[in-house]
Amino acid sequence: MLGINQETLAEVAAESIGKINPNSTNAKRWINAIAKAVVEIENNPFMTWQPESHSLLMLSDSGNIYTANGTCQCKAYEQGYPCKHRAAARLIVRYQEKAN
Ligand SMILES: [Zn+2]
Repeated sequence: MLGINQETLAEVAAESIGKINPNSTNAKRWINAIAKAVVEIENNPFMTWQPESHSLLMLSDSGNIYTANGTCQCKAYEQGYPCKHRAAARLIVRYQEKAN
């Protein structure tokens, strides 16, 4: 995504990981999802924040397009697991709060 400050993003990611209860069911999956989301935000040029719907539109490496906020359309989400798309959407929200 264009114009992302990597230091701010790293701070936001560290804070998000810090807020995860390590004993919660999907803690490890969320931590993985956040780590993948950071890579994705830094490297995926086909990603755009949609302020009207508060959602993140992204082209995934699977070739699918996902619109993520609290929900997603990917297989992980269908199976009830955390996914990098939702993690990325959450990181972008927190990033914007921090940047403003
Ligand atoms: Zn997803």
